[in-house]
Order: sequence, then C-alpha cells, then structure tokens
Amino acid sequence: YSTAAALEEPIKPTVNVDHTKLFINGQFVDSASGKTFPTLDPRTGEVIAHIAEGDAEDINRAVAAARKAFDEGPWPRMTAYERSKILLRLADLIEKHNDQIATLETWDTGKPYAQAAKIEVPMVVRLLRYYAGWADKIHGMTIPADGPYHVQTLHEPIGVAGQIIPWNFPLLMFSWKIGPALACGNTIVLKTAEQTPLSALYVANLLQEAGLPEGVLNIISGFGATAGASLCSHMDVDKLAFTGSTETGKTILELAAKSNLKPVTLELGGKSPFIVYEDADIDTAVEQAHFALFFNQGQCCCAGSRTYVHEKVYDEFLEKAKARALKRVVGDPFKSGTEQGPQIDSKQFDKIMKYIRSGVDSGATLETGGEQFGKKGYYIKPTVFSNVKDDMLIAQDEIFGPVQSILKFKDLDEVVRRANSSRYGLAAGVFSQNIDTANTLARALRVGTVWINCFDTFDATIPFGGYKMSGQGREKGEYGLRNYLQVKAVVTPL
Ligand code: NAD
Repeated sequence: YSTAAALEEPIKPTVNVDHTKLFINGQFVDSASGKTFPTLDPRTGEVIAHIAEGDAEDINRAVAAARKAFDEGPWPRMTAYERSKILLRLADLIEKHNDQIATLETWDTGKPYAQAAKIEVPMVVRLLRYYAGWADKIHGMTIPADGPYHVQTLHEPIGVAGQIIPWNFPLLMFSWKIGPALACGNTIVLKTAEQTPLSALYVANLLQEAGLPEGVLNIISGFGATAGASLCSHMDVDKLAFTGSTETGKTILELAAKSNLKPVTLELGGKSPFIVYEDADIDTAVEQAHFALFFNQGQCCCAGSRTYVHEKVYDEFLEKAKARALKRVVGDPFKSGTEQGPQIDSKQFDKIMKYIRSGVDSGATLETGGEQFGKKGYYIKPTVFSNVKDDMLIAQDEIFGPVQSILKFKDLDEVVRRANSSRYGLAAGVFSQNIDTANTLARALRVGTVWINCFDTFDATIPFGGYKMSGQGREKGEYGLRNYLQVKAVVTPL
C-alpha cells in the first residue's frame, strides 16, 4: 500500500459546491420543510455541504411537475428526433464539464479521481448518446390477425417514472435510469442516494441549456424511508426503477403493490462467482479476479466476490492474488496513482469489518489485510481470505467491500453446483482457455451476465440485470427501453 501518513492532509478539491437545493419543475428550490442534511467526505467524515432534504411534500411537488410535463408539456409530443437532439446536447454538456463532475463524484464517494474522470463520466456520456440514437427508432408493428382487421401496435411512454439510485456509482446509475426513460418520452422524478447527492445536482444545472423542458426531470435529494418511500407509494407515479440492496428492493415492490400496482424494475445485490479453471491463463485470471473484487473499493453489485479456483492451480493463484493485493495502492482518491480510496461511510466500514471478523471466526485464513488503513476516514486494507467454505457468511452475503474470498474446487459439475447455490444471480466470471469449458460454464450458470476471460466489461449496448434475488428486468441496450414503454394494440376493420 502507499503510506497511511499521506492521508493526514487530504487534497483539497478545486470545485465549488454550488447546487445543493432540490430540482423541481426546472428550478432549484428549498425543501418544503426547510430541513437540510450533510453530505460527508469519506476521506475524513467531514461535511462537504448541507443539502436540502426532500420528503413527502417535495415528492408531491415533483410528481405534480412531472405529471404536468407529461400530460400537457412538449416532451412526449415533440418528434422523437427533437428528443434525440436534446439528449445529445446533454451528453455534450456533461462531456464539457467532465472534470468538475468527476471531482464532485470523487469527493462525495471516495472513488479514485482517474476512475471517475476517465471511465465513469465518459460512460455516462456514451450511454446518453446511445439512447439518444434510439429515440427515433422506437416503433410498433403491424400484425397479421386472423380476420379482416388491420392490427398495429404503438409503443408509447408509460408516463411519470420514479427512479431511485444508490451511492456506489451515482452519476452512472443516474444515466442508466434517465437515458432510456427520456428517449421513450417519459417524465421523471429521481431520488439520489443520501450519501451522494452532488453530481446529479450539478447535471440538473445543465438541463435547461440542453433544452430539456421544465418538469421533465426532477431531482430530489433525501432519505429512503421518507422521500424514497413516498415516491414508491405515490398514486400518480406510473413506473419505478431501483438500484440498491435486495432488502430495500423487497420494500419497494411491496410499496408499489400496495399503492397503484406500478411496474417495478430492480437491480439488486450479488455474490458473483469468479471461476478459474485449471487451463486458465493464471496471470490474467489473477489480475482480473483482483479487479473484479477490488474495483470501486469492492462496492459493486456484480463484484466477483467468490473466487473459485481449480485445485491444480490453487496454490499458484493464491500466492499471486495475495501479492497483487499487497501491491494495491490505497490512498487519497485525488492523488494520481491511487487504486483504492475509502469506503463510502462509517456504516459500510463497520459492516465490512464485522464480515472480516466473521471470516476469521469461522475458520477462513486471513492472508493479508483485515484492518483499517490510516486513522482517518473509512479506508480498509485490501483483504484476502483463503480456505473459504461455501457455508461461511463471507461466501454467502454481499460484503460490499475490499474482501476477496478464495475457494477451492475439483471439477466442472461441482463448481457449477456450488456457484449456483446462492440466492443471488447477477453475474459471473469464467476463466479457461478451452472454449467448450468456458461455454459449458456460461450456459450452466444462473446469472444475468457471464464474462468469459474478462470481467466488468460494460457498454451501453449490453443488457444488465439479475436472476433470482439479484433483480427483475434488464437495463441498458435495447432491452432497457422495454421498462419505459407501454404497448397499445390498435385494431381497425378492413
Ligand atoms: P439501500 O438499498 O438501502 O439504498 C439504495 C437507495 O434506496 C438509496 O437511494 C436509498 O435512499 C433508497 N432507499 C432506502 N430505503 C428505501 C425505502 N424504504 N423506500 C425507497 N427507497 C429507499 O442501500 P444502503 O443502505 O445504502 O446499502 C446497504 C447495502 O446495500 C450495501 O452494503 C450493499 O450490500 C447493498 N447495495 C447494493 C447496491 C447495488 O448496486 N446493487 C448499491 C448500494 C448498496
């Protein structure tokens, strides 16, 4: 690791936090209650800014604005090509403000600045351009019915979409949500995560310049139990999309069912297997397994958090995986060269440390790490466990931190059975130089994404979503549009 002493003087970001109010009907406004909450710097736990705290009344105001924009405003009525041009302008503006947005994202989340600036904000831009391209390619069909009828289907926007996003990839999740919804002509009330409100509010400031009519996209900062729950229960919200924990996903489904039965898309947790077969290129597998788990401080829903290694290559893999973890550069996320910053907050830090203790107590071997890095903020040393068994909590629960669990297996059938014996089914990595082995595994695994000899390869075109308790529905790609469209059949006698 880098030296912990370097953390004593956190680098001061050079961007102003100008936008801290709610964004409703095209205006930055105070919350109805006048309340605010602090957003904290994960490097120190200190306050970055006080943010207007939205609750039920603000959700009502935002939904009313989104409803009016949908029922009476120009957005669903303009040509799809016009909508496409506005989304392209928004993408251009975000690209122009790349460095300011990446700075806010790093400050609010603790993720390395290079990751925010060179990977995530460019992915946001790419995704908005991708869905801008779809706007005028969304169309229905004519259907040869059994009778003298002309039958056509119209693909129409659903209406007001409620969207709730997490703190691990704030602006990326924002774009996954708003891109397809806007391309289809919906209007939106989006609630950011209470830990990370800053980047979405910065982008709110660019919407008018992009040409987005007022009320089309409303952004509410606030807490899950108040603002989030009000959005989910609202009778005038036509659709919900959520990314976050499986427990909260259950609550959201319940709130939707008890109110107006609005359809719900869920992207939830995971415990993704990363399978290294005996014929894998070991050095590539070690590097990719390291990346699969430690990327974004281990705070990824699809993190490769169960590393299954064939017994013939287990010892070699373990030694190299441990050496790689020891080389990982932990430090101030604004410092160039930093690979790993702090965890998001004290709650997550405590949860991860509890899992590390549980790993030790249940008999796994702590190869390296396992403790705080430095004294300030929420940094954790990259941690590797070997001798992990399937029934240990560290092999079953989503830890959401920099903790790699390495497990040994003997043959293909066994690893398929063990990899599938999870309540989650989000993603998997498969490492083998034999195309038959790789494809056999890919077909047998009950997960929404299989990466063969790679991991975390994301593109706007590739659908993403979970089997089992990892979620419902798919985001991104053409599949992502289906969440935001109604199908209307129109029948005319011939
Ligand atoms: P969470 O699921 O509670 O929060 C995610 C979002 O849901 C936030 O915007 C939050 O305000 C909102 N929310 C919370 N309760 C709500 C409710 N009752 N109604 C409506 N919205 C509500 O996640 P968390 O508490 O921040 O983190 C806990 C765990 O969740 C993590 O340790 C991790 O395992 C998991 N997690 C997963 C993802 C993912 O991408 N799959 C993202 C964040 C957290």
